[in-house]
Amino acid sequence: MNTLLRPEVLQVPEYSLRHHPCRIKLNQNENPFDVPADIKAEILSAFAAMSWSRYPEFSPRQTIARVARFAGWREDGTLLGNGSNDLLQLLFMCVLERGRTVVLSQPTFTLYRLLAQTLGASIRDVRMTEGFHFDVQGIIDAVEETHASMIVLCSPNNPTGSSLTRDEVESIIRSTTGLVVLDEAYMHFAGESCVDLLHEYERLVVLQTFSKALGAASLRLGYALAAPGMTAQLNNVKLPYSVNSFSLIAVEKLIDRWEVVRPWIGRIVTERERVRSALGQISSLRVYPSQANFLLIETFERTPGELFELLLKRGILIRDVSSYPGLERAVRITVGTPEENDELLSALREVL
Ligand code: PMP
Repeated sequence: MNTLLRPEVLQVPEYSLRHHPCRIKLNQNENPFDVPADIKAEILSAFAAMSWSRYPEFSPRQTIARVARFAGWREDGTLLGNGSNDLLQLLFMCVLERGRTVVLSQPTFTLYRLLAQTLGASIRDVRMTEGFHFDVQGIIDAVEETHASMIVLCSPNNPTGSSLTRDEVESIIRSTTGLVVLDEAYMHFAGESCVDLLHEYERLVVLQTFSKALGAASLRLGYALAAPGMTAQLNNVKLPYSVNSFSLIAVEKLIDRWEVVRPWIGRIVTERERVRSALGQISSLRVYPSQANFLLIETFERTPGELFELLLKRGILIRDVSSYPGLERAVRITVGTPEENDELLSALREVL
């Protein structure tokens, strides 16, 4: 049976996340503030009023227009996907194949490597510098050396929290003839986006999502912003109807109620800085600055695995990222509600 699968597929390491029921979930960079009940009720009644037996619109114009306006880019350069994961898969599939190269800054979101491996593409990793800063010159050199077809930049980067400046992104785009994919999943926490660079560069694709700052990971809605010629071509290859009607309705309502959602971001950023400075007081930990809704922490007394287990016993789920390149001593902790963060801090003080 396995002989039917391509060798690239058989070589891909296991990619899954074990389910641990727990009180405090700080392992997936989700938003701790749920959509308020009145907004949920509005979404549900709009969904109840529509026909469930019909497909969604082939190109859901109205939702695309709303998302485009929200993101600050043109409607004909906006593509919706079933989470940004869906759009990453689409982009990789459209650009990469055996014999082509993708440049990745490491450590980063593991899906990029998995997708490239599955397609049989070559991967050139560029390690971040001390303190987990992007090695911009290293990326530019790697792109030149390999004639890379694609460069994936994640800013703010998962799992380090570090960001690229607009000038750095621009100098990388200028140094290459490949497609630059800029994953801005955590952009709202940094307060800065490179969307405006799309006016100048046709080889740039920016990905954003409703899963993080916008508090709607369960809806699975991400979007790609790019030159209209690029999104039109991608749209021809994309699976039709990958975004369901419920998500289309819900996302529009969330944009309508942006004034309710927006303050969550400020609260999370304030909490991030509070937690970071409290963790800085624990001598066996080293916590890194972050522009996202999570913190990267190195642990020197306990191993990441031990820390994971000790917190899990206390009902707190974090992410052990020690298998990522260069992160042998690290865990990643999502910023929760103030109460959750207080519990995390007292549990850490207890076990360290
Ligand atoms: N990009 C990055 C950097 C992420 O961390 C994640 C989620 N872990 C995604 C994309 C996927 O997000 P979505 O829910 O939109 O598929």
